[in-house]
Amino acid sequence: MIALAQTTPAQQPAEPVVPPAHRWTLVVHGGAGVIERAKMDAKTEAAYRASLTQATEAGAKILDRGGSALDAVEAVLNILEDDPLFNAGRGAVFTAEGKNELDSSIMDGSNLKAGAVAGVTRTRHPISLARAVMEKSPYVMMAGAGADAFGAKAGLEQVDPSFFFTESRWQSLVKQFEKEGRPVPPRPAGAPPAGGPVVPVAQMQEAPDTHLYGTTGAVALDRAGNIAAGTSTGGLQGKMPGRVGDSPIIGAGTYASNQSCAVSGTGTGEYFIRLGVAREVCNLVYFKGMTLQQAADQVIHKELEGLHGDGGVIAVMPDGQLAWSFNTPGMFRARLVEGDKLQVGIYNDEP
Ligand code: ASP
Repeated sequence: MIALAQTTPAQQPAEPVVPPAHRWTLVVHGGAGVIERAKMDAKTEAAYRASLTQATEAGAKILDRGGSALDAVEAVLNILEDDPLFNAGRGAVFTAEGKNELDSSIMDGSNLKAGAVAGVTRTRHPISLARAVMEKSPYVMMAGAGADAFGAKAGLEQVDPSFFFTESRWQSLVKQFEKEGRPVPPRPAGAPPAGGPVVPVAQMQEAPDTHLYGTTGAVALDRAGNIAAGTSTGGLQGKMPGRVGDSPIIGAGTYASNQSCAVSGTGTGEYFIRLGVAREVCNLVYFKGMTLQQAADQVIHKELEGLHGDGGVIAVMPDGQLAWSFNTPGMFRARLVEGDKLQVGIYNDEP
């Protein structure tokens, strides 16, 4: 018997799968600390606000043309790393031996991939090096000369360590060490001659063990609904060579998961490491069902303060929630949501 060809009813074209529309969101920080209105002159304050605006707008441009959260985070931090006002890349604080040792990390919330570098001295953009570790090596974290060498092989710009030198950070170290009666290290090789122009930066106004402001961080949500976080810093002024803070520690200074949230922190890193601050914020959202703001406030104002730690976080979630929270008099910060106005803040009495 010959089988008759079966005619099948015409297939209905499948409904196109339209991903849920996300308004992109970007939150940036430039460090937390004892930043007081009375002690910051108008020109310096305006310079910080302008720099935060410029970096945030650059990241926003990427998100606005459909770019990824990861690209936006990296772009923002590249700009802040080159900006002498901030304690990351050029403008980083000095170790007790008068060197700049840079820490950074980045995390992609869509796949939990992460990259981090600690104590690098030659790669111009440590956040890009952290990303290269994430994307081009089998590792999550690399340190020191090996990390820089990997960066050179990956094609990232290498500079003489004196590239990171700024007169204001140097003077700040000298002032601190003279006050404490500690030996001032020799002026770094390759630094411009003393007496050159000094860009005023926010100065340390507290006990010498207080961290200096200017660590940089960014968190973003892109149109595809993915989130990412990154942090880049010179660490603590006068730190012992080899000291590593929270900024390159995944879960402490940086964390991102599309299941919960993306966080970047700034503050005295030892407390952030002990509390696993960034992951802790995300856990409170995920396991306790807190809003992002509640979770950030719980970690900063209860857990961090409980240990007498200082600092702050910025955070975003895939559903568009965003938050910042800090227990210091100030935190350099900015946020921009698609279609809204850019908001820049420094002091704790600003929204
Ligand atoms: N968290 C950084 C560190 O401890 C410093 C800072 O955020 O200011 O290295």
